[in-house]
Amino acid sequence: MTNETFTGHKGLQLEVPLLFEEGSYEKAGVDLPQPSGTKSRLGDQGAEHAPHLPAFTEPQAMRHFVRLSQKNYAIDMGIFPLGSCTMKHNPRLNEKMARLPGFADLHPLAPEKTAQGALALIHELQDWLCELTGMPAVAMSPKAGAHGELCGMMAIRAAIVAKGEEKTRTRVLVPESAHGTNPATAVQCGFTVDKLPGTEDGRVDLEAMKAKLGDDVAAIMVTNPNTCGLFERDIRAMADAVHEAGGYFYCDGANFNAIVGKARPGDLGVDAMHINLHKTFSTPHGGGGPGSGPTVLSDALAPFAPIPAVVKEGETFRLIEQEEGDFADSFGRMVAFHGQMGMFVRALSYMLSHGADGLRKVGEDSVLNANYVRVRLAEEMTQGYPGPCMHEALFSDKWLKDTGVGTLDFAKAMIDEGFHPMTMYFPLVVSGAMLIEPTETESKASLDEFCDSLLGLAKAAKAGETERFKNAPYFAPRSRLDETKAARQPKLRWVEPEEGAMAAE
Ligand SMILES: *Cc1c(COP(=O)(O)O)cnc(C)c1O
Repeated sequence: MTNETFTGHKGLQLEVPLLFEEGSYEKAGVDLPQPSGTKSRLGDQGAEHAPHLPAFTEPQAMRHFVRLSQKNYAIDMGIFPLGSCTMKHNPRLNEKMARLPGFADLHPLAPEKTAQGALALIHELQDWLCELTGMPAVAMSPKAGAHGELCGMMAIRAAIVAKGEEKTRTRVLVPESAHGTNPATAVQCGFTVDKLPGTEDGRVDLEAMKAKLGDDVAAIMVTNPNTCGLFERDIRAMADAVHEAGGYFYCDGANFNAIVGKARPGDLGVDAMHINLHKTFSTPHGGGGPGSGPTVLSDALAPFAPIPAVVKEGETFRLIEQEEGDFADSFGRMVAFHGQMGMFVRALSYMLSHGADGLRKVGEDSVLNANYVRVRLAEEMTQGYPGPCMHEALFSDKWLKDTGVGTLDFAKAMIDEGFHPMTMYFPLVVSGAMLIEPTETESKASLDEFCDSLLGLAKAAKAGETERFKNAPYFAPRSRLDETKAARQPKLRWVEPEEGAMAAE
């Protein structure tokens, strides 16, 4: 039996042509006869011919987009084991709250006195974020983790400028395992990046770091837990050392999910840290948005926080829009308005429904789940670094050596098994990395199904069943795509095929 069908549909997986291929150019939804005896009021400015856009009936248009939506894998369908992303379950309660018309329909230019409830919500969320991180201030406007990094580093730059050290403090130390946004942000702010080597056990090398410190160091940027899923146990010593050298400590807080309610960055000597609300405090994300990256700041950096900011004066909430009063030294404005309102509502709803004890349990369970996966998979796969992990388990491709199967092949075979692949080839410090973050809401049954399937594949790879991997996925609507070509030469415009020719690739 062939696995090709007459229609191109497979099972109940329906093919979706492009709108341009599917629609009709001859017919529109409604065809009215040309009215007689009237002259176009556009004179000779009217279009010479119809716009040549495809037309659809309402059911056709609806089916097109519903079919497309079903091509998307989602956390609502199954486990999403991407490491470094925290793709967690998003309780529907948050969605319901975010859609309350008072929040969802509020215009960003509405007068302050008509938006007191929204400002009160932002203010309460600020309190929660400061409490959870042990930090005195937070800037709410950054619209993603990377944007929060920019906010923190701009605050650090402003502090350095205020001390008159901008000519000399130009170097930022970044570990080699860092997320790419860290060095990119440092460079964006005009600093040069100096790479910090790691230790055998996947942490920042404290002694090597100390050796690099000097009066030209503006800051260190360290992720904690780091991108190998490990807690930087020397974090306090690192903070003390950089402070002693007159620099600042930027912590990348994207992995805060693992320590929320357990450890407070403020107690660890952090000067600035972004929090990805969309990773730690729910909100559906991926595909480029939406994101929200509030950035907590220490006393040393708080005066330079961006505007706008929400403050409470007596019983009234105010949006500070100008560099004045406590905000006279603000480094300025990063975005037009106050930030991502919908995500603020979701985050606060998530916090209130969990409570302080519930949030602590999130941290505990995410670490427990990751270690369960780590121990089970270590039966067949090689751990990136020895010992327990935090919220994500890292494996190298060592165990695939001589099998003819690579990390990419293994990940593609997972799709055939009905699993979204884990993060691949990141962090770069581990050969053929596979980074798995199960998150706290996966049940033991779900983790077992995932592990059983991966162990089955691992055994198949070792038994020489390369066919299973070589052209996988076999059961997906598309198999191997040329991802490099798609990224480097994207086709962004549909070109009508020549008469009689086959549709474009
Ligand atoms: C996700 C992530 C970022 C960037 O956050 P965005 O919200 O995607 O901009 C930065 N650092 C680490 C470690 C991350 O996991």
